[in-house]
Amino acid sequence: MTLTAMIEAWNGIGLVATYDRPTAAWIFIALHDDTMGVPLGGTRLKVYPAPTDGLRDACRLAEGMTYKWAAVNFPFGGGKAVLALSRPIDADERRALLTRYGELLGTLRGAFITGQDLGTTPDDLATIARAAPYVNGVDDLGHVEDPGPYTARAVFAGIRSAVEFRFGNADLTGRRIVIQGVGDVGRPLAERLARAGAQLVLSDVDAGRVQAVAAPLAADVVVPEAVYATPCDVFAPCAVGATINAETVPQLRCAIVAGSANNQLREDDDAERLVEREILYAPDYIINAGGAVGQGMKRLGEHDEETIGARLDQVGDTLLEIFREAADRSESPARTARRRVERILASRRRA
Ligand code: NAD
Repeated sequence: MTLTAMIEAWNGIGLVATYDRPTAAWIFIALHDDTMGVPLGGTRLKVYPAPTDGLRDACRLAEGMTYKWAAVNFPFGGGKAVLALSRPIDADERRALLTRYGELLGTLRGAFITGQDLGTTPDDLATIARAAPYVNGVDDLGHVEDPGPYTARAVFAGIRSAVEFRFGNADLTGRRIVIQGVGDVGRPLAERLARAGAQLVLSDVDAGRVQAVAAPLAADVVVPEAVYATPCDVFAPCAVGATINAETVPQLRCAIVAGSANNQLREDDDAERLVEREILYAPDYIINAGGAVGQGMKRLGEHDEETIGARLDQVGDTLLEIFREAADRSESPARTARRRVERILASRRRA
């Protein structure tokens, strides 16, 4: 698809696109929906084969944020930014690109507020925040909090709910869980699951990182190509999107797919493919809402970690409701979740 065809097909509010000449990168800010409030979503930084791949990611991720915020009924809208690199860049180039991106956010004067996503670190967000005050989760000293542990806590609650629904109890002792990607979310998730007695199998394209995470947890490691066919109770995608698709679903040897990655399904039909294989799917924007919830609560003035933790654990309760409703209606949990958020958005539009 060409860039113009993608923009024509985009059903969001609008797009900001600019070419960063010094780094030969594209900056895309996709604003999908502001029914619930000002668009708030992370900034992804990654090398893409082509700018259109970055734009596609920005648009799909922005839409996912609309559903994520609506699902938890928080007053923020759907938006996402992608800094689409055409080649790897060094630390100086990175800082300069992030500063220019921050200045761009400054010209938007708060029409988009950002946070961390795949490929960006708290340090990166601090660089952006020094250029413009539109970064969520910055403390008084200019430090940016990593949302990964919040996301991991909610994914953990979601996995417990999925296990309870599928096997009749939420005990994770001895449950075999494969985690794809042990970064900001995958690592703390692995630690929680290990503490709960799960038997872990970890995988990451970064061989050094996966060994470092696996060793203290006595976890097994599989190479990235073998991850889908590894027998397990739960497959937890915690890396990139579109890993659940027509090629991978037939390979899966799990009972449950439940992880943090955004846009896990390559297309809507993948949810039906999982149903056909009797694999329970935890809709991504429901189970991975922890970082948004935690940092969103702080933005709304709630700083008590116990209160935040209790709200993160509710993600598990929401998922159980979705699994039960989906079973009652003989439909995929993805369809049930979509109907729930469409209902919330429609009632907000009427109000
Ligand atoms: P991260 O960049 O810290 O970690 C991702 C890890 O996945 C890295 O270790 C990377 O080497 C690995 N990886 C990349 N491609 C891989 C592949 N094909 N196979 C195996 N491993 C691969 O990112 P993160 O913050 O941990 O986020 C992980 C996913 O969760 C992303 O899809 C992100 O959008 C989503 N997510 C993150 C948060 C959060 O709080 N960080 C919140 C919601 C959703």
